[in-house]
Amino acid sequence: MKDLGFKRSPNHRSGRSGWENKADIIVHHVTEGAFNGAVSWLCNTLSQASAHFVTAKDGSFIQLVDLANTAWCNGNGPTTIGEALNSLVKSRPNANANMYTFSIENEGWSYKDNFGVPTGAQREALRAFHKRIVDYILSYNPKWRASRETVIGHCHIRSRAKPSCPTANHGEKYPWDDIITEINNYIDLKQGGKNPESIMESTSTPVVEVTPPATPDYSAWPGITKHNGMKGHQIPFVLEIAPAMQASLDKGILISVRMAQAILETGWGTSKLAKEANNLFGVKADNRWQGPVYNTQTGEWSAHVGSYTINAPFRAYDTKAESVLDQAEFLQAPRYAAIIGDKDYKSVAKKIKDAGYATDPDYTSKLISVIETNSLHWFDTLGSIPIKNTEPQVPESNLPIDTVAAAGMKVGSVVRVKQGATTYDGRSPAAFVYEHVYQISSYSGDRVVLDSHGINSPYNVHDLILIGAGIPSEPQMKVGSLVKIKPGAKWSVTPEKDVPAWAMASIYRIDQLDGTKALLNKDGINSPIDTKFLMLAH
Ligand SMILES: [Zn+2]
Repeated sequence: MKDLGFKRSPNHRSGRSGWENKADIIVHHVTEGAFNGAVSWLCNTLSQASAHFVTAKDGSFIQLVDLANTAWCNGNGPTTIGEALNSLVKSRPNANANMYTFSIENEGWSYKDNFGVPTGAQREALRAFHKRIVDYILSYNPKWRASRETVIGHCHIRSRAKPSCPTANHGEKYPWDDIITEINNYIDLKQGGKNPESIMESTSTPVVEVTPPATPDYSAWPGITKHNGMKGHQIPFVLEIAPAMQASLDKGILISVRMAQAILETGWGTSKLAKEANNLFGVKADNRWQGPVYNTQTGEWSAHVGSYTINAPFRAYDTKAESVLDQAEFLQAPRYAAIIGDKDYKSVAKKIKDAGYATDPDYTSKLISVIETNSLHWFDTLGSIPIKNTEPQVPESNLPIDTVAAAGMKVGSVVRVKQGATTYDGRSPAAFVYEHVYQISSYSGDRVVLDSHGINSPYNVHDLILIGAGIPSEPQMKVGSLVKIKPGAKWSVTPEKDVPAWAMASIYRIDQLDGTKALLNKDGINSPIDTKFLMLAH
């Protein structure tokens, strides 16, 4: 057992939103993937997920959120309250369970079978910080006891969405009774004035050692399914960079190809350049680069000498997400114009090599192999990339712009940006902006905000060309629909909470729909939202 201390995740809410000194339920989870990846994911603002503690299979543990603060692990709300198997949770239909719970993530192998059962070393770690949680609860609620109501699994809150967290069949194989007995013995000794240390730290209760399955099954991750070939340690890497990939979809490049590039370049995130400089694509620090630089050796290939190694300066980033976003910008250079909007990963893999992205002569076949071996094409179903040159062509000369603006442009109208126009604040947009149609998301004075795949750029109304009256309102929104969140949206929670900008850059699938309340399917997003804040992702 090793206490790795406190690494404060930015993913938390200060306080308990009215449940201060009332939090009373300890919730156990299992991670899908390795401890380090899970900790890094739970500290990554893109994930919007966290836990109070995380245990590793070797018994190391780390705290990520203060007990007085709200971690984001158990999210539920009015639309999911029906799933709860726990009567305390059911009795609080208007409170998000995050407000009154303490979350623990255990490093595990899979939601399936019993692979969420903690190892002996993990049980020791649990004893160590259960004491801290229990001491904290007793400080304001001396009558608190551990029970099957107050020590539960994620599966007891989200029985339909997370039936196998922390173990299959709603926690069937998890050692609930042993843990509860330990905690209550601890409380009895503590309140009886005796030293309770020995009870909580003993290993007298039976522990289950689990052998990792030969073939991991990742079916609990939407899209990262048993059909795809990724192994346990590869999943956290892919999940860590997926949100930034999705957020840069508006740049018009297939996620599958970029994901394969990052995997090849870094060996699933294990390269020195990835670990020390967060550089996932081997992008060098040429004279266009103003940021920090990391010098290291790199393998190159030329027809004259074959493979060789050089020392080269590379771009350094604070986070992997930054590297992902920067590469999307990098690929906007004219020589990569042919890949923008191309929806065939084989064609993109070939064009990107032909444009000189990599010197390896086998680069195209390697990209395609990584995509197909790991079913990365799934990521290309997350949302549509801008389509090139397929929108109705409107002859500009026939449109007196001022008249059109006055006549018909309104929120929801479909427009183009005039060739060469700058944004409202005078910046030059990427070249592809002029090739696509956008929907007006807000309109005030002459300032119009256009919405496209997370780009909410303002333009002057005089720089726009009206294409159509608008995408029709969306009565066909249903479970399974792919949607985006509109600017200015709020989660339907109490108190009302603004949807962060990064969430608006993503495309979600509607998981459940109850009247006008929708629940979106995406890791870490469990908050209900009114459908008036959603639009279908076309
Ligand atoms: Zn869970």
